[in-house]
Amino acid sequence: MQLDIKDLNKSFWSHGQRVDAVRHFSLRVASGSLTIILGPSGCGKSTLLRLIAGLDTPDSGTISLDDRPIDRIPPEKRGIGLVFQEDSLFPNMTLEDQIRWALSNKTKPRFSVEQLLDMGGMTALRRRYPHQLSGGERQRGAILRSLAAEPKVLLLDEPFSRLDAPLRDALRREVRSLFRTTQTTAILVTHDQEEGMALADQLVVMESGRSLQAGTPQSLYAFPTNALVAGFLGRANIIVAQAEGLFAQTVFGPLPIHRPAQGPVRLMIRPEHFELLKGEQFLITDKEFRGHDVSWRLISGELEVLVHTDWEQDFRPGQRVDIRLRRPAVVLEESSG
Ligand code: ADP
Ligand code: MG
Repeated sequence: MQLDIKDLNKSFWSHGQRVDAVRHFSLRVASGSLTIILGPSGCGKSTLLRLIAGLDTPDSGTISLDDRPIDRIPPEKRGIGLVFQEDSLFPNMTLEDQIRWALSNKTKPRFSVEQLLDMGGMTALRRRYPHQLSGGERQRGAILRSLAAEPKVLLLDEPFSRLDAPLRDALRREVRSLFRTTQTTAILVTHDQEEGMALADQLVVMESGRSLQAGTPQSLYAFPTNALVAGFLGRANIIVAQAEGLFAQTVFGPLPIHRPAQGPVRLMIRPEHFELLKGEQFLITDKEFRGHDVSWRLISGELEVLVHTDWEQDFRPGQRVDIRLRRPAVVLEESSG
């Protein structure tokens, strides 16, 4: 099912102060796709999910499923599933009984208990109680149980954040493939940038209740429209410049830019898009070996630049170098923030 959110707003009053938890938030989630909402703690992610699920009422805005508004439908009738950070399995039921329970009110279930257990790779664990499962297995079980209920949209609130890194990686690949097999329409919220980039069909960067930018992970990484998005998704050099068509003048010379512009602009350049050359313009102040690459800090007057190269570049701190861009600099759309 396609989910549409239009201009959603929600404020809370807390100790006489207004908190705008969700502000002018619009979003479309295509049927069968996974949207990841990435943002720092407190930016309104859980509030947004609660509004979609109907656990909270928006101040304004609409939410629709396949073009039908659901704002007046009570939460239990919306057909929206919710999976939380902490496992929500029933402590006194085996895994297969929990899944059977979720299937029990379906007259024609899409998948059987056996199929669901198999797709989730949990057949061998079917007779276990939650306390006999690891944290990752419990989360996988909770997701399977939610899928058994065939939600129109499944919402997941930081479902992997309590798990340690290697387990999280494996689990998120499994969940991704489970969603593909079942063509689940889902929204997952997280503050983990790596998770957002690795999993999303559509990635949305959220900050202070607003959606800053939405698109594929690659398009957001390569072409952020503002410095906050650039910074959430990786390291970024932000450089002031004077644009003139397809070039911009910077303190270290003209650079090609990704779209025509005129006048004062800010440019975003990923550290790995610079090359180091023998030269004079920049002084190397720091070199850090990081395994997969080497991180360099360079200065030229007031300007500090971060460069990532492979580790075969043979320069040392104290030496002078020039830099060259391997792809045009990205012109940010706003002038501040
Ligand atoms: P996130 O899930 O991204 O960490 P939340 O949606 O939980 O963010 O919270 C967004 C903002 O709204 C925070 O400033 C939080 O303190 C505030 N907030 C959330 N729920 C309530 C509530 N019921 N009453 C008052 N303030 C709330
Ligand atoms: Mg939250």
